[in-house]
Amino acid sequence: MTGLMASSDAALECLRRTVPVRRMSSESAVTVAHRPIAEPVDGDVAAGGSGSCALDSHGGLLRGGVPLSSDRDMPPCMWELIITGCGTSHGNPPWGYPERWSTDPRDFRRRAGGMLKGPGGEVVLIDVGPDLGAQLRDPYRDWDGRSYPSRCITRTDGVLLTHDHADHCHGINELRQLNRLMDGAGIPIFGLSSHLDALRSTFGYCFSGGNGAYSRSSPALSTVSVMPGQPFSVAGLTITAVTMSHGTAGITAGFRINDVAWLTDLKSIDPVGLPALKGLDLLVLDMLREEEHPTHLCWAEAEALIAQLAPRRTILTHMGYQCRYAAWEERLPDGVVMAFDGMTAQFSG
Ligand SMILES: [Zn+2]
Ligand SMILES: [Zn+2]
Repeated sequence: MTGLMASSDAALECLRRTVPVRRMSSESAVTVAHRPIAEPVDGDVAAGGSGSCALDSHGGLLRGGVPLSSDRDMPPCMWELIITGCGTSHGNPPWGYPERWSTDPRDFRRRAGGMLKGPGGEVVLIDVGPDLGAQLRDPYRDWDGRSYPSRCITRTDGVLLTHDHADHCHGINELRQLNRLMDGAGIPIFGLSSHLDALRSTFGYCFSGGNGAYSRSSPALSTVSVMPGQPFSVAGLTITAVTMSHGTAGITAGFRINDVAWLTDLKSIDPVGLPALKGLDLLVLDMLREEEHPTHLCWAEAEALIAQLAPRRTILTHMGYQCRYAAWEERLPDGVVMAFDGMTAQFSG
């Protein structure tokens, strides 16, 4: 988006005025920090204004609050979840359709992905979509596009793969830079065996050497097959995969990570996995648009699943261009917010 916005003086000015904010609740463990990537070009939403919100300890939306400067404020032992991309497979808004464009930076969405950052420098990636390079360089989407991106990602403990669709794995080659920065150390990718088989088939060169066999021309990756319902550990996090139906597009893996769940690209959840999704602090949930879709949750379906799982907080992601942030901000119920790229939320490690 930075490149797009940098195409005009107005957009550059918008970037300069970007002020990272954090909305703090009285109970930091349930804080959702919404860090606007920039103010809308029309200036309707000031940093610290209605474009930011947080959930209080009762799951209600807080509006207003104290702008703080950085994640240095995060309590020790807390992890941070970053929404590095919240768009659907095309990203949005789509070019070639002027009527579908939006000037609100919160509607500029990279392909869906996330990142978990731990207090000891741990980094776990969720999916490696086509925008991964930009997401690693500028995870919070607050980079000015010219100075050194000081919040870039230079290492990872591993990747959680939801499935092998292009918008979730076609940035796999970008992991090569992390191999390089980690002195050639390999990177494990955790997922369901069918998705890992597809990765190895499509991107065989990334797995030819396995861990420790990094070369300048290809990444050094390995795969770790996980069984639904059987907890495993990455970087000290306890993670459980659940199997989900992607409608007519096959199956996907959802992940419970401590008390956080990441569920994208689904129409329904295997009932066997439902007990693993109870008692959530935070749910990140697929919600493509208002209208029904054969492979993704629409709003009515997402709303029903939220009611069923009853998490304390929910962030909607993987949205289509139809979902204008400003409009949805007004209509979503307490405890539910729409993601934007660079949004962060804290959770217990
Ligand atoms: Zn997708
Ligand atoms: Zn998909």
